[in-house]
Amino acid sequence: MLPRPFFEPEHDEFRTQVRRFIAQRIVPFHLAWERQGCVPREIWQAAGAIGMLCCTVPQQWGGPEADYLYAVVALEEMAYAHAPGPGFAVHSEMVTPYVVNFASPEQKRRWLPRLVSGDAIAAVAMTEPGAGSDLRGIQARATRTSTGWRLSGQKVFISNGQLADVFVVAAKAGNDPSALSLFVVDAALPGVKRGKRLDKMGQHAQDTSEIFFEEVQLAEGDILGSEGDGMQFLMHGLARERLTICIICQARAEAAFSDTVKYVSDRHAFGQTIAQLQNTRFVLASVKADLVAGRSLVDRLIEMYRAGVLDQTTAAAGKLWVTEMLGRSADACLQLHGGWGYMTEYNISRVYADARVERIAGGTSEIMKEIIARGIWPQT
Ligand SMILES: Cc1cc2nc3c(=O)[nH]c(=O)nc-3n(C[C@H](O)[C@H](O)[C@H](O)COP(=O)(O)OP(=O)(O)OC[C@H]3O[C@@H](n4cnc5c(N)ncnc54)[C@H](O)[C@@H]3O)c2cc1C
Repeated sequence: MLPRPFFEPEHDEFRTQVRRFIAQRIVPFHLAWERQGCVPREIWQAAGAIGMLCCTVPQQWGGPEADYLYAVVALEEMAYAHAPGPGFAVHSEMVTPYVVNFASPEQKRRWLPRLVSGDAIAAVAMTEPGAGSDLRGIQARATRTSTGWRLSGQKVFISNGQLADVFVVAAKAGNDPSALSLFVVDAALPGVKRGKRLDKMGQHAQDTSEIFFEEVQLAEGDILGSEGDGMQFLMHGLARERLTICIICQARAEAAFSDTVKYVSDRHAFGQTIAQLQNTRFVLASVKADLVAGRSLVDRLIEMYRAGVLDQTTAAAGKLWVTEMLGRSADACLQLHGGWGYMTEYNISRVYADARVERIAGGTSEIMKEIIARGIWPQT
């Protein structure tokens, strides 16, 4: 595989530590969690204790203030281990950055140390039954009160929904009916209700839920930034979210490839190994070529993010390409497993099912194309 010169020896040490933790504390239990439909809260605290959560949060707010490559290592190791159950990526890379970048000092003091330690779990609640790709259709509404805000609305497909202690919620707020705002909402507040855990085709250990906000009384400072800042903050956050998805999907495709090389090297048919068949060699050569292209793309995106120059269009192009690449790699690798590939005891069946959502969540492939096209024709 391509060299990855940005990693230093300390990142490799961290990787060894994280890999050991996942092998001991996550992998042996993952199947049971899949049957339960969620992971135990204690695994978050255990991950927090080894510094795997919210790696980049500043020390001022109780974080390790590590460079972004530590976050990359944590994301990759979970993906290499076929362990999508604990929603660490959503917590650390998709929700916490909103609190770090846009919350009031009081909110940061309140939440960040606990998000870092895993004592509190975070979720982001944008999608609604009637509004996913088109966030302008959001119906959740925050109306002003004498002390702050009253929030009402219904959200769906919320990752970590059953476990979350804090939600970042998108809602229309104030007088302008089109202005979107983001709120930090304590899950313990009266009126925050968890609906059912949704039954999915993959990622069974990760809970995905409905959440209801029924006249939840929020303080003035629970808004991120000011009224109407929501869309701008989401656009800022989505580039990192899409890079996170790229990092995970590339690592999953690499893991699927390694598993498949081993499987076809051991399995026999017609007096030879499956690996000796020219079709197998060509299929895996194509997957490998995709992995090389994907690795060079993802590492370049990581460098751009670290340099502060990862733009929306490039992040969207990366998400589109890497998630589609994972889909075709998982399909090709499953086919080479024959009937065993369809059995859940083989990781490849789960990689295949788990991969499907990556072309949908975090913005569908069609929306990625829209964003890229807007970069080509900015006036449209
Ligand atoms: C497992 C899972 C976890 C998720 N986790 C979260 C979470 O934690 N928080 C959260 O807020 N959301 C979450 N989501 C929601 C996810 O982001 C949305 O499902 C996604 O954005 C698509 O929205 P939608 O499902 O409403 O589809 P729709 O927007 O209804 O889209 C339906 C189809 O129409 C296409 N389409 C829509 N608009 C256009 C267009 N302009 N041009 C071309 N085609 C278009 C779409 O690409 C898609 O193919 C999750 C979803 C899943 C499945």
